[in-house]
Amino acid sequence: MAEKIRSKKSSNAEVKVEKKKTEKKVEMVKIGDIGIDVKNPPTEVCNDDKCPYHGHLKIRGRIFQGVVISDKMNKTVVVGWEYLRMIKKLNRYMRCRTKVIAHNPPCINAREGDIVRIAECRPLSKTKSFVVIEVVKRAQ
Ligand SMILES: [Zn+2]
Repeated sequence: MAEKIRSKKSSNAEVKVEKKKTEKKVEMVKIGDIGIDVKNPPTEVCNDDKCPYHGHLKIRGRIFQGVVISDKMNKTVVVGWEYLRMIKKLNRYMRCRTKVIAHNPPCINAREGDIVRIAECRPLSKTKSFVVIEVVKRAQ
């Protein structure tokens, strides 16, 4: 019984912490803050300056949806997607693949296999000028 009571207490404490977090989130995050309609905005708060929700990064340009191919880099993911390109001469479609390196803020934390939306931003490094804005579907 003692253990059960302890576990209950700890769970209560966790709930309190979560409540505090949500209060902070309400202060810091405004829905639509990044200028784009996002269905699944991040529930956590991060201290990353290069986060479109909690940092100072602004989004402009193009938006793509793709699958995370690799999450091995630090705060960075490789996102890829396939598309069909018409070849008039042969009257057929060619399959093309694109790979884009995107910043992965800790509050979103996309992992390999996730379907994500990425948006263009200022160049964050030599090869990185996109940022993950939401996870459409988590990999299981
Ligand atoms: Zn964030």
